[in-house]
Amino acid sequence: MTWRLEDDYARRFPDLGLDWTPQEAPAPRLVALIDSVAAELGLDAAWLREPSQVAVLAGAAVPPGAHPVAQAYAGHQFGQFAGLLGDGRAVLLGEVKDATGALRDVSLKGSGRTAFSRGGDGKAVLGPVLRELVVSEGMQALGIPTTRALAATETGEQVWRQGMERGAVLARVAASHLRVGTFELVARQGDPTRLRALADYAIERHQPAARGADNPYLALLRSVVAAQAALLADWMAVGFIHGVMNTDNMTISGETIDYGPCAFVEAFDENAVFSSIDTGGRYRFGQQPGIAVWNLSRLAETLLPLIAEDPAAAVGDATAAVEGFIPAFAEELLARHRHKLGLTDAREGDQALVDDFLRVLKVGAVDHTLGWRALSAVLVGDPRGAEILGGATGFDEWRARWVERLGAFDPVDVAVRLDAANPVHVPRNHLVEEAIAAANADELEPLQALLEAVRSPFGPWDEGDRFAEPGPEAFTRSYVTY
Ligand code: AMP
Ligand code: MG
Ligand code: MG
Repeated sequence: MTWRLEDDYARRFPDLGLDWTPQEAPAPRLVALIDSVAAELGLDAAWLREPSQVAVLAGAAVPPGAHPVAQAYAGHQFGQFAGLLGDGRAVLLGEVKDATGALRDVSLKGSGRTAFSRGGDGKAVLGPVLRELVVSEGMQALGIPTTRALAATETGEQVWRQGMERGAVLARVAASHLRVGTFELVARQGDPTRLRALADYAIERHQPAARGADNPYLALLRSVVAAQAALLADWMAVGFIHGVMNTDNMTISGETIDYGPCAFVEAFDENAVFSSIDTGGRYRFGQQPGIAVWNLSRLAETLLPLIAEDPAAAVGDATAAVEGFIPAFAEELLARHRHKLGLTDAREGDQALVDDFLRVLKVGAVDHTLGWRALSAVLVGDPRGAEILGGATGFDEWRARWVERLGAFDPVDVAVRLDAANPVHVPRNHLVEEAIAAANADELEPLQALLEAVRSPFGPWDEGDRFAEPGPEAFTRSYVTY
């Protein structure tokens, strides 16, 4: 068995990837390996568990022939241009051709200092590494585009964060690591030939249909807008808050990337903020689609000189492409909401029905995940329906409208449909924290149990299922992570 890593990006963009040399990891140790991701990459999971490969996953050894680089990118952070960022604690090992023939990036996050580390130590610690692993597994199971975790390893090092913590590395797999911030960097460097090469590469890897369009770069922009509109609709439908939607954390592929202070809304509130660093609430739940438009505007600006020879002449088309997000997103989200209400056709008034249900959840501070899931229980007379929704102001009235909208129906059939659309197991903060605390005490059973639960997001929802329960109040407010 070998890795068969390609160095496509490193060869094509030598000035966007700086060579990296591995750092010592005193005692690499595997914490979790996601077998399905290994299989997608054509890698044997048992082989990856061997010490020689655990060293690779921990960033302590480089596979023969690999050409690891730290990627350069810029970005807007919290609305301000932050200049050159780049991988300060990550490295691209290379690309692997997956089972479908597509190139997938394999990167290591927390693998030590790079040329972009500035004041940082280049490291990651076990908690955040496991959070990204668990939440990305949950997102995948929910059918939401996401980077994947291949493995989490401990390095055997102690790293200073809030006290001494265990050093760890996440081996991450992505459709690519091209970000809005990658385009922001190259556009600012002012060489249109390099910008075109980057855009051509993005088209080749993610939007091959754009190649044949009248204006391939406008088509690229439209495709990214469409991918992000679908992604944001996915997030909003399940109550996912990314937490740090900086432009360096928005992919060209349309995958969710960089899980930091992310969370699933519990007591429903469109103003929910979990990240302790987001003091202004810029990235609050309900603002995410608007931020996506803002980020896509930054992408559009970079593409202007490719869309038309005179960038000023491209502004109209580029603006229209970005503004296309708004109806595309609304349509995508309404389609998901109809599905979540058990509706199989589209009618006038459906948006109002959705909005009014969300108002019931908000006024009653109902758990977002369970509020939707309880709809099937309401229909079939499972007492959990009344427990969760029955007391919420306005629910009875709303329910009458919903039932009328469903028309003549078999409650059991509709309940099956509802349960297939409304998850019950999402990676809730308190469960993730519990698994992390246990892993820090060398107890990996809670992590495995949580992974198993989030891999069956749609149930069943058994009586007393602790993975379905909202967390204590402390986890539903500001949430510190790093
Ligand atoms: P993030 O918050 O993970 O999106 O990272 C924002 C920027 O800070 C990126 O350029 C990271 O590579 C960099 N960064 C984050 N943590 C570290 C660290 N411990 N050492 C060096 N650079 C870091
Ligand atoms: Mg980032
Ligand atoms: Mg990062």
